[in-house]
Amino acid sequence: MSSGHGRPVLPETVLVAGGAPLGGELRVPGDKSISHRALIVGALGEGTSLVRGLSDGDDVRRTRDAVAALGAEVHDDGEVVTVTGGRSLLHAPLGPLDCGNSGTSMRLLAGVAAGLAGVTVLVGDASLSTRPMDRIAAPLRAMGAGVTGSGARCLPPLTVTGGSLHGITWVPEVASAQVKSAVLLAGLFAAGETTVRERVRTRPHTEELLALAGADIEVADDGDGRVVRVRASALRPFDVVVPGDPSQAAFWVVAACVVPESALRVRGVYAGETRTGFLSVLRRMGARVGLHGGAPGGSRSGVGAVADVTAQWGPLSATVVHASEIPSLDEVPALAVAAACAEGTTRFVGMGELRVKESDRLRAVARLLDAVGAPARIEGDDLLVEGVGGDGEEGGDGSGGSPKGLRHFRFDSQGDHRMAMAAAVAALAAGPGESRIDGFGGVATSYPAFLTHLRHVGGHARVQLVAIDGPAGSGKSTVSRAIAGRLGLDRLDTGAMYRAVAWAALERGIDPQDAPGVAELAHSAVIDPGPPDVVIDGVVVTSAIRTPEVNRAVSAVAANPSVRAALVERQRAWAAAHGGGVVEGRDIGTVVFPHADLKVFLTAAPEERARRRREEPSEGVARRDELDRTRTASPLAQAADARLVDTTCRSVDEVVEEILSCLR
Ligand code: C5P
Repeated sequence: MSSGHGRPVLPETVLVAGGAPLGGELRVPGDKSISHRALIVGALGEGTSLVRGLSDGDDVRRTRDAVAALGAEVHDDGEVVTVTGGRSLLHAPLGPLDCGNSGTSMRLLAGVAAGLAGVTVLVGDASLSTRPMDRIAAPLRAMGAGVTGSGARCLPPLTVTGGSLHGITWVPEVASAQVKSAVLLAGLFAAGETTVRERVRTRPHTEELLALAGADIEVADDGDGRVVRVRASALRPFDVVVPGDPSQAAFWVVAACVVPESALRVRGVYAGETRTGFLSVLRRMGARVGLHGGAPGGSRSGVGAVADVTAQWGPLSATVVHASEIPSLDEVPALAVAAACAEGTTRFVGMGELRVKESDRLRAVARLLDAVGAPARIEGDDLLVEGVGGDGEEGGDGSGGSPKGLRHFRFDSQGDHRMAMAAAVAALAAGPGESRIDGFGGVATSYPAFLTHLRHVGGHARVQLVAIDGPAGSGKSTVSRAIAGRLGLDRLDTGAMYRAVAWAALERGIDPQDAPGVAELAHSAVIDPGPPDVVIDGVVVTSAIRTPEVNRAVSAVAANPSVRAALVERQRAWAAAHGGGVVEGRDIGTVVFPHADLKVFLTAAPEERARRRREEPSEGVARRDELDRTRTASPLAQAADARLVDTTCRSVDEVVEEILSCLR
């Protein structure tokens, strides 16, 4: 699915079922951190860099759009993204850079903006606008840039006034690859040397890519931490393959560990030590996980080790997890689900930084664990999770490890992608039954194919199915389009399918009353109901099915039971392929999907319906309604459990709100 801006759209509500083992192998999206940096360092390089395997999430798109706004040229042929950059091309942007939900985009781009003459404004969505930027503002100011945001913690929008910078030595108070990267990127524009000393090693991708691009950079280990020095340098273009994102792989690895009888392999994952701490944690818990080096393309990645990760179900036991083991804390939501399934109480120590992620993740994780039945509590900056693992009451066979108490739940991720994916893993582990996850749309920021992959490895997920029936002119099309948009669902106009068959019959000289002739046509025709176009047997008929001839013929065609059987089968197949959706017609709630999550029957006063269908004579509409209502095969009728909504004299928004309120 994709929206008008080419940005991926995912359903807001997803229902994930447990009870099935997971198996097989998959590739997760290109590493998000490396993708952001490849675009930015590519934009700074003098010439054209090639990037393969770039993350397709919304966050990385923001960086891509931003480097283009800064003057780089970006092309994407679906496989390779080329970035043509250079100092002479880059300039402060004409308008604000919209970083969406992406903190990485904002912090790294602020570092670049500090080096460009002029003013750059960086804005974000509601969630990003609550995330503090003071930790990058302080060093960038010390280097000579102007950085302003709101309040003491420098909340976005951020205004960066760039110009002549000088090098500094910076020791971040809190381990942060983003702060380090902002300082190093600004250091490329600064007079003298810029040094960042980190006490805890954070992900090294900025250093790796700068080295690949030939920057004057030095990295030295310094006891526990690391010292990185950079000088102003001209960068050259590079060719890089972005390895799979370990923080996304973590969801599948944990899923394989906690869903009974599962075994999964995630191919081509970045396996540098700063990013694979979650595997050490899982091993300590007794999980059967492995790293297998030498994945194809690994040697070409240019950005460090690449490996396949394997994981298998088995008993888990509690452990103590320190923040320094997983510096970004990105894998904590997934690990918390592992802790929920383990035997004993797991303590996550020093998790304060989780409070300022895409949501207050510390509270969100505790909320999720409570919902799945593994009590969690927050003590200062620590999170304690009481696992439900160990032998269940009926587990006297010595098999052990089967989570005895995870239960299905309803959870609102509030748009936080990692919380939504962690919730999906918890639902997979909760045994037979189904959990409801709201706020799932946020997953598009990092992993648009998550649901496709979940199904690929044998998990069951569906979206809501909304059935909208009603007579002609009752507002079905407008309302169903709006509902689909609001819920991030696909929409099926079944009327268009009947119309397409009627059109084809007329086109081929088959009398609409010739039941066997039309039935044969309906069974053999290949129909694509769109959007964007309605196509039958390769012919685009989007507007041809709205003519007076088709209006007159369609009800006779639709009264034919054999035609209905053919089309109903395809409508059910459509919903199965889409996992659900918004389906409009005449018999959707009564016949096609009697178990829909929500059934709506729209009506409107006859005069209003006639006015809405101005292009069709009012006697025509009345005749069609009469035929639809009185035919024997699946007549137009309100299902007993459908909500009746009268759209007369009401705005679309009002009607949509009323319908959505039934789903909440
Ligand atoms: O929705 P629309 O007015 O385009 O539908 C055209 C015709 O298709 C209806 O008048 C009805 O005869 C038929 N139809 C149907 N069952 C559906 C959808 C449409 O019989 N589910």
